[in-house]
Amino acid sequence: MLRYDLHCHSTRSDGLLSPADVVRRAAGRGVDVIALTDHDELAGLAEAREAARDAGIGFVEGSELSVTWRDTTIHVLGLRIDGQNAALNDGLQAVRTGRDARARRIGESLAEARIADAYEGARAYVTSERLISRTHFARHLIDQGHARDMKDAFSRFLTAGKPGYVRHAWPTLAQAVGWIRGAGGQAVIAHPGRYRITDADLRALVHEFRDLGGEGLEVVSPSHTSAQYDAFAALVRAYGLKASCGTDFHGPGESRFDFGELPALPAGVDPIWSAWQR
Ligand code: AMP
Ligand code: MN
Ligand code: MN
Ligand code: MN
Repeated sequence: MLRYDLHCHSTRSDGLLSPADVVRRAAGRGVDVIALTDHDELAGLAEAREAARDAGIGFVEGSELSVTWRDTTIHVLGLRIDGQNAALNDGLQAVRTGRDARARRIGESLAEARIADAYEGARAYVTSERLISRTHFARHLIDQGHARDMKDAFSRFLTAGKPGYVRHAWPTLAQAVGWIRGAGGQAVIAHPGRYRITDADLRALVHEFRDLGGEGLEVVSPSHTSAQYDAFAALVRAYGLKASCGTDFHGPGESRFDFGELPALPAGVDPIWSAWQR
């Protein structure tokens, strides 16, 4: 049985390790097939692929796309995409440009809460000139003593209703799934247990996603309880989708599961990799 880890981040988005170091860490911890899925970014894929080849493990080109669905931000993983695809690259570049404008507004919003210069502060934590995220604000707020840890930084400042939160229009579900499929990839809804939506809305999301050609749901994720593994396995079966799994690794000590620590998929689901040839 091969160990698959199909969700993680590098310094090309909001992770702490370079793409090559991410892959080497995964290989050293027993992962057989890894997907790098930086937020709205493809720039780490070439480096990661080379490191995977050197380490003798399988590599899947991926990305985690930000989407606005009915006023809720959701994340859609693209797996086995062609990282060179022009429409996908152009789409994600526009998303990253929008991220910078959003970050400036987050800075202004924090200034109103008397936290000055947070945009500049967050910029100092950015590891790729191409992408800024709330994670960079969180790291800055922690180091400035405004929050204890990541969880605290998000719940005090960076989520809906809090001083550093700004609404943002990400691409639509149809755009994201369209870009992924256009680049030859498979679309997977990431960590469904994280969205603050009703069960009925989650079903509506899954239904719409499947109608657009989406193929999978992330079942095993550090964002889920083991009861949710079973609930999402049932959802996957009910909608004829495939199941995925990933650590959502961002860096040592920042994730509930490190590489190699991910529980197996529940029995009775069709894995997203079932039709892949190595
Ligand atoms: P962004 O894409 O800029 O909105 O940032 C989202 C990222 O923030 C996610 O990918 C996570 O890495 C991180 N994040 C979101 N919520 C939390 C949380 N409650 N605790 C820790 N990290 C979080
Ligand atoms: Mn992240
Ligand atoms: Mn995510
Ligand atoms: Mn992620």
